[in-house]
Order: sequence, then structure tokens, then C-alpha cells
Amino acid sequence: MAGTAGDALAIGIDVGGTNIRAGLVDDDGSIHDREQVATPDDAEARMTAMLDLVARLSERADVDRLPVGVGAAGLVDLDGVVRYSPNLDWRDAPVRAELAAALDVDVRVENDAAAAAWGEYRAGAARDVDGGALMLTIGTGVGGGLIMDDRLIRGNAGIGGEFGHLIISEGGARCPCGNRGCLEALASGTAIGRRAAAALADGGDSALRDVDEVTGTAVTRAARDGDALAVEVLAEVGCWLGVGIASLVNSLDPGVVIIGGGVLSAGSLFLDPATEAYHARVIAREHRDVAPVLRAELGDDAGLIGAALLALARHA
Ligand SMILES: [Zn+2]
Repeated sequence: MAGTAGDALAIGIDVGGTNIRAGLVDDDGSIHDREQVATPDDAEARMTAMLDLVARLSERADVDRLPVGVGAAGLVDLDGVVRYSPNLDWRDAPVRAELAAALDVDVRVENDAAAAAWGEYRAGAARDVDGGALMLTIGTGVGGGLIMDDRLIRGNAGIGGEFGHLIISEGGARCPCGNRGCLEALASGTAIGRRAAAALADGGDSALRDVDEVTGTAVTRAARDGDALAVEVLAEVGCWLGVGIASLVNSLDPGVVIIGGGVLSAGSLFLDPATEAYHARVIAREHRDVAPVLRAELGDDAGLIGAALLALARHA
């Protein structure tokens, strides 16, 4: 059941604020089996849950000692220490060392958005693209990942690639990180909800007046039904995303830009204004191949697929 003979296999684990999702993944990025549990609040229980998922997947596949890759929401350093996680209580937690000691296998731990970027690069939207890829995962917040020269770029300590905290409007909206005007503060699902609420407070006419909570999801739904205020908000927030993409492309020159996360449900209502704003700001536009904006293809599986593929990719 574990694929054709000769496939290299790994177990990928995506630790989110709500669920821990794990999969048995081959070196093409195909998922052969999967498991999921609710994420325990307690760090020790979380470790036990991860070990249990590995044990169950290994037992069903009748293989043991597979390499393990983990994508975790937070700042993860080069040693696989989760230095800080905004949603979980990991603080300087040696997740890689603890898993490796318990399992006696190679373990790799990366930021969840970086793992998702690797998944899309190897097995998703950018699998047939030559050159590096930059991915932004846009949901409640904004995560990022960068691949250059077939390597995941993580910076000096490993905690780089936090493109959600690229400051694009000094003095702009407050970001959960403490700064103002970050990409995450201006171009996330949260930002969409907040902009729409402000437009309603200004007296704007919209079907959103009848919803209980003006979230990014509610705005997207209204925009798809043709609500003019909601369409305008998606275009405005999309424009900020385009400013961020242009800044990143001008500074990093990736081969492609991949957009993933819940915001994809807004489709072209969000991505077309973003692409237009990006194209208007990319430098030397007539003298370069402008990196295309691609939609992510792996959905919620990108993180666990990417984590497993990173566990198999010793060079990256
Ligand atoms: Zn920030």
C-alpha cells in the first residue's frame, strides 16, 4: 500500500493551531495515507500526539524509521527549535531534537509556510517551473517561503522568510507582531474584514450590514454575489498585496510568485487587482521576464507534503 517499490517515503506533519495533520508521502509528493488529530494545548501532549501519528502511519504502511518532516506555525531556527509560535505555547522548544530522540530517525522542522512553499515548488503550482519560487500563504495572517537555487532560503538563524511582516506602509494598520503597516496588516483575511467594517462605519451601502460578523470570508461571499462595497474592498486589499509582491520581486527576483491560503476563494476579485498593482510597480518591466502570479494547487495539504519532501531533500 506504500506505493511502488523503490519510492522513497517520508512522514510529513503539519502542526496548526487547530489540527495536527500527518501523511505518508512519497518523493513525488503523493499522499498514500493520512491521519489527523485536534492540536493539544499542552506542549508535552502535542509531542505525544505527533509521535502517535507517526506510529499509526508507520504501522499501517508496515515500514518503520521513515524520515519525518514537520511544518510548525512559528519562528523555527536551523536546529529545528521553535523559538516562538504565535498560536501555540512553544517558546524555544527543541521540537526536532525531541522527535529525533524519541523516533531515532532523521527529523526536519521548518516553518509551516516555508514547508508549504516547498510543497508547491516540488509537487504543486511550480513543479514544472524552472527557477526559484516565492510563496505567500494568505489566510488570517500572511506566511511566506522562498526557494532559490533549489534550496529553501531561511536566513542566518533560519527564521527569515516572514514576508507577512514586510512593512509596506509605515504608520499603517497595526499588525499582531507589534509593527504597523506590515503586509499581514494590510493584505490578509483579517485586513479584508477590517477594511469592510470601516467602509460600513463610513456609511457604505452593502448586504454586509446583515451579517453577524464582517470577516474576510463574509466579504468574499458578498463580493461573489455582486455586492459593490465588498468588491471594492477586495480590490483595495488586493492592491496592497500587489505592492508587497512588487517589493519582493524587485528585491528577490523569484521565477514565480505563488499565492495560497483561504484568500484564494476570492479568486480573480482579489488576485486581478493584486496582479495589476504588482505589474505597475515592478521595475524594468519591459526588460525582464515578469514573474507570473500562480494560484497554489495543493490546498491544505501543501504543508505536510512539503514537510515530507524536505525530510527527503538532504540538500535543501
Ligand atoms: Zn507584522
